[in-house]
Amino acid sequence: MAFANGDTPSRGTGGKVAPADFPPPVDSQGEFIKRELDDEDELIEVGVAIVGGGTAGLSCANRLLQLLADDPELTEELGEVPVAVVEKAKTCGAHNLSGAVMRPEPLERLFPDLKREDWRKEGFAFGEVDKEAVYLTPTSKRSIRIPPPPPFKNHGNEVISVSALARYQQRIAEEQGAYILTETAASQLIVEDGAVVGVRSGDKGRGKEGEELGNFEPGSDIKAKATVLAEGCWGHLTGPAIREFDLGRDREPQTWELGVKEVWKVEEPLDRVIHTIGPWPLSTSAKQGQVGGTWIYPMKDERTGDDLVSIGFVIDLEYADATTSCHDLLQTFKTHPLVKKILEGGERVAWGAKALPGGGYWSMPKLSMPGAVLTGDSGGMVDTVALKGVHHSINSGILAAEAIYKGLKEKSSDFSSYEDAIERSQTGKELYEVRNTRQPFSKGFFIGGPLVNLFIATKGKIPIRLPWHRQDEREMFIGNTKDKYPKPDGKYIFDKLSSVYISGNATRDDAPNHIRVQTDVPREVAETWAWMCPAGVYEIPDDAPEAGNVDVIVNYTNCVQCGAITAKGGRLTTPEGGDGPLYQNT
Ligand SMILES: Cc1cc2nc3c(=O)[nH]c(=O)nc-3n(C[C@H](O)[C@H](O)[C@H](O)COP(=O)(O)OP(=O)(O)OC[C@H]3O[C@@H](n4cnc5c(N)ncnc54)[C@H](O)[C@@H]3O)c2cc1C
Ligand code: SF4
Repeated sequence: MAFANGDTPSRGTGGKVAPADFPPPVDSQGEFIKRELDDEDELIEVGVAIVGGGTAGLSCANRLLQLLADDPELTEELGEVPVAVVEKAKTCGAHNLSGAVMRPEPLERLFPDLKREDWRKEGFAFGEVDKEAVYLTPTSKRSIRIPPPPPFKNHGNEVISVSALARYQQRIAEEQGAYILTETAASQLIVEDGAVVGVRSGDKGRGKEGEELGNFEPGSDIKAKATVLAEGCWGHLTGPAIREFDLGRDREPQTWELGVKEVWKVEEPLDRVIHTIGPWPLSTSAKQGQVGGTWIYPMKDERTGDDLVSIGFVIDLEYADATTSCHDLLQTFKTHPLVKKILEGGERVAWGAKALPGGGYWSMPKLSMPGAVLTGDSGGMVDTVALKGVHHSINSGILAAEAIYKGLKEKSSDFSSYEDAIERSQTGKELYEVRNTRQPFSKGFFIGGPLVNLFIATKGKIPIRLPWHRQDEREMFIGNTKDKYPKPDGKYIFDKLSSVYISGNATRDDAPNHIRVQTDVPREVAETWAWMCPAGVYEIPDDAPEAGNVDVIVNYTNCVQCGAITAKGGRLTTPEGGDGPLYQNT
């Protein structure tokens, strides 16, 4: 938000403050782009460097290695390590989280010999959807079943865990010959002469103040003929790449949503996929700006026989009430009779949180730059009305691999054919069709809802472009959403810290802080962060003033790297490789 007269923003409760007025202390291009490769004898050279071992990055690795298996000449040219995947988590899958109901076609195309029964035996798939139900929840007690609107039709799709799928794809990639560097964060993008030529891995063994500890290991330059940014939602290197190569020109700003998920072991199997579209427990007023929904998916684990349920709440980070907390909204949702009858008597076995890009087609950056491409959530390829991105990330990984293979054959670092391939593919067509279906919700549930229905019914034929704006520019106020949240009992309703604990989060207490935020900010901004963060990272001291500026305490070792802080005025950078959650079945 600009203050045209040069005034400082008004401070304190009742004042108008937007997180964008307190930007994070970061020089993204200056800090995260390295302008020169180290000397040849100090660097690691690979053929293709893929940053991120989620479904997008690993699908790219799997497809590329299928193509290289039939091309010994190019494989030889790519050197000792034709394909490397750089993943910051302890293992691929440990930082991945999704609903997840997946459209099956791209995965079937990637592994044509693998049948859906095999997916289940491998432990990443939990059953084909044959029944579904969509509910309105007008109040905390009532639910009204409605015919599923087209985006919620899931018949024939598969319930999966992206965390388990990534572990499976990692194993296949290793068998195919990929070099997977887990516990390794890509901390800088290397750009020479206007082209991406690789990435630098982060240092390990630094102390709180950045000092070198006894076990210090410096990072290394990883030089590559092609680099794939598959960092997921809000990438640490994707952001500077978008700025450096002006990839956001003529596009709408990206927006974000945040999802919190729990997995429950239940006594009775659930027989259908359920979505609720509110309005309860959210407010319907445009002033509050709360837009969100829930899912409840059945997961039958064929290997253990367990009946599991995936349940989650997703909220658009456009909201204005600083006390909006996705974690606590999920706990509130669990008090609805519709949910209680599914979960009661069961046991929570997993928890996690993650952001996803929400802007859709108009917010997608240009997907290629000299020497590199953007895939999956890094390229903003999610349909947030249907809550579907897994099949797009797999598809984009496959198409990126094919474009890179073609480029490398021609000894070119121009991979722009990938952009056309995405546009012509299922991903391009689907995202184009729903390009205007999400924006009308900013007018509130009752005015926006019918417009959303109109855009869905006309299947993208109305030729307009609905804009987005930056979510950190939204003025925040301290409202009363917090009054709805139930008290944790440690059995059915959980607080944030016990949730972080079961995510397997492990970050050294003396690690350097990887979160960049200003710490002297108006109470509205501090409360926004404290309520929003699902991991309880931001704390306002008890003796802080009720109005005006407060000092924010940043408990960064709790961070589960969900990425949401970026939407509301902060910046997540890469922590030391290996830190963060250890998701198993999210
Ligand atoms: C709450 C929620 C519910 C969803 N539900 C569904 C659903 O039901 N169905 C559906 O189809 N889609 C759903 N989606 C969307 C879908 O999950 C995503 O679109 C998809 O998983 C994105 O895959 P990706 O590989 O692009 O990114 P990610 O899965 O995020 O993978 C990125 C990987 O890169 C690593 N990484 C990032 N930066 C670096 C770095 N600098 N160095 C090293 N490693 C790095 C990360 O650790 C991570 O492993 C949901 C998303 C969320 C958040
Ligand atoms: S501090 Fe970490 S867990 Fe909390 S909102 Fe930011 S990225 Fe998410």
